[in-house]
Amino acid sequence: MTAFSSLPLSPTTLANLQQLGYESMTPIQAASLPVALAGQDLIAQAKTGSGKTAAFALALLAKLNPRWFAVQAMVLCPTRELADQVTVEIRRLARAEENIKVVTLCGGVATRGQRASLENGAHIVVGTPGRIMDLLEREYLSLENLNTLVLDEADRMLDMGFFEDIATVVKQTPKERQTLLFSATYPEGIAKLAQQFMRDPQQITVKAPA
Ligand code: ADP
Ligand code: MG
Repeated sequence: MTAFSSLPLSPTTLANLQQLGYESMTPIQAASLPVALAGQDLIAQAKTGSGKTAAFALALLAKLNPRWFAVQAMVLCPTRELADQVTVEIRRLARAEENIKVVTLCGGVATRGQRASLENGAHIVVGTPGRIMDLLEREYLSLENLNTLVLDEADRMLDMGFFEDIATVVKQTPKERQTLLFSATYPEGIAKLAQQFMRDPQQITVKAPA
């Protein structure tokens, strides 16, 4: 068991984790957070329910500047349901910090509300590749200040045929960004994603106990 306090996290964040009942890190968090917080690219593989969301959320929140109204982090997810879950978890982890705005951007709803949320200032966007691509094309969204890109449930995004959409979106982000990829399995396409969009990624796998 590893305590969150072994990580370079702010006292506010540590107190909030304690209030949320997060007493110690899960294995994937203990293995990936030191790497992610050090700014390195990361491919992390662990089964569903192992706490992967906090593993990337704490890393992107640690870098975020709440006083700068620019989209600094983006999480790409395969479905709207998963994007909603990630948004809820990021908000829980960020609730003690000053006013961090997280906006969910998925298809199936009108773009108008999403556009208004973006105009009001978003620090973090969470969404599906198709809708994000659409918002970029219409110039409602800019990713020029992005410093962290997360590909969550990358295996499922590949299953759903999102490779080209992901590529289109990633091309509109700065090259100097940190890229974190999370997946439950490691199909062939992941290596292709890593080769094209990641810089010397550390690969971490947490095996389920036998
Ligand atoms: P995954 O993305 O790997 O499927 P989630 O990030 O959705 O897993 O986490 C599963 C559940 O575990 C969530 O309800 C989350 O709030 C909880 N959780 C995550 N990390 C911790 C922790 N360190 N201690 C206690 N609960 C945690
Ligand atoms: Mg997950």
